[in-house]
Order: sequence, then C-alpha cells, then structure tokens
Amino acid sequence: MLRVAEHFERTDTGRQRRGNEDAYFARSPLFAVADGVGGAQAGEVASQIAVEVLSQGVPEGDGSIEERLRARVEEANMRIAELAHADERRAGMSTTLTLAYVGEDELSVVHVGDSRLYRLRDGVFERLTDDHTLVDELVRSGKLTQQEAEQHPQRSIITRALGSEGIEADSRTWPARGGDVYLICSDGLTGMVDEARVGELLQAAPSLSSAARTLIDAANDAGGRDNITVILFRLEEVGGGDADAAAERDRDADEREDRERDDRTARPRAPAARLVRPA
Ligand code: MG
Repeated sequence: MLRVAEHFERTDTGRQRRGNEDAYFARSPLFAVADGVGGAQAGEVASQIAVEVLSQGVPEGDGSIEERLRARVEEANMRIAELAHADERRAGMSTTLTLAYVGEDELSVVHVGDSRLYRLRDGVFERLTDDHTLVDELVRSGKLTQQEAEQHPQRSIITRALGSEGIEADSRTWPARGGDVYLICSDGLTGMVDEARVGELLQAAPSLSSAARTLIDAANDAGGRDNITVILFRLEEVGGGDADAAAERDRDADEREDRERDDRTARPRAPAARLVRPA
C-alpha cells in the first residue's frame, strides 16, 4: 500500500502580473492546481471555486475513485458556469484544473486545460497530461512541430477549461510506486522553463521544498511572465519502503491463508470470534 511520504507546494505571482489567479489544493491524498482565466479578478474567482469544491474530497457513492473525482470536477464546472452567467463582470471566467489522487496502489488523475502533471520515476521525468491548447492539438494532429508550438504566438489559447458548458475532462488511473515523485504545475512554470530543464532541476534538488523553490526561481529568472504554482509529492510503500516489502506481504498473506486452511480442516468448527473494538 502507498502513502504520501511528504509534499511541498508553493505559488508565486511572478514578475509581471499584479495578482495571482492560480490556486492550489494540497491535502494528502488529494492534490490539485487551478489556473484561472478572466479579466477583473474573475480568473481568481474561478480557480478558487474549483479548489473549494475539491476541498469536499472524493464524493461518496459507487463507482471508481476516478469516476467520483470526475463528478467533483463536473460540479466545479457547473458552479463556475452558473456564477459566470449570473454576474456580468464574471462572464467568460474559467480555470484549468489538474488533480491527482493517491490510492492504495495507483494514482488517479483528472485534467482540463494546460496545467500539467509530471512523474519522476527511476530517473525518468515524464509528462502524464496533454495540454488542452490550440497548439498542442495541432502538434498531436501533426500540423505543427513541438518546436514551432513553443514559439507560436497563440500558444496560450486554451481549448478546454472549467466554466464552459459541457466540459470534457481527461481522466486516467496509473499504477504508482514507492519512490515516485509527482509534480503538478501551472503554465507559469512550463511556459518559462523547458520541461527537460524542469526535470533536471527536480532531480538535482536535495529535497522537495528546495526543488519547488528552485523551479519557481528558474521561472522568475526567465522572466516570470505568469503566476507560477508548483506542487510536489513523493510516495512511499507503507511498512517496507520498497516494492520488495509489498511482495513480502503478499507471500505472508499466502502463508497465513494456508495455515488457516490447515487449522480449519484439523479442528471442529468453533463459533467465529467477534472482534470488539473499545469505544
Ligand atoms: Mg497561467
């Protein structure tokens, strides 16, 4: 079984914006970054609503964690859309949302917009989300190269965000491992520092807190044109600290089952003992 061994998060206004329209949520095992869009502080409102809705956690009910998280995201979408309709000053406000939930052995992700989730595992730094931007869609359909996309004047145009009607969120559940480090960030980081460099800085850092500070400094040193938000979390196996521990527990469980089966066949059946938990 996995748990979050440590996490660190930080947001920074950057060098050129007056306000910070990014918001984040970090309460283990749920982590999310929202990057608001809209004039007159409306973007700030949108990203805050997304985070507030998420703070209710995973909804109760049937269905997988991933499905229930999607329901939460849909709820945030409705709330933002309703407010945008009701208040002229907030018309058209929206937000990105990238969230990750650490389950027993896996990581569930729901994602809309151009914030990103990365994983560092065994020295390999990999992006796990697609950007919902005009240029990224052109790259995926082969009409633009990655290099052209990075210089494209319209690279900040988002094609999907919360607050529009009928959003389509990406979602996926990945197997996770002890030792994995995950990074969720807003485009204020990745728009300023190319992702290979982000991976290098993360690997070279002595701690998550140091990594977060270094990444934000790098974005600011490169111009800090946008708000920058970084969440970092590291997973560990509970009990053993590595994958061998999980295998060992499986073996123990098998042996225990064998012993219990032997016991049952050797002795007359006794009434099942009831475990009473002290109040
Ligand atoms: Mg941004």
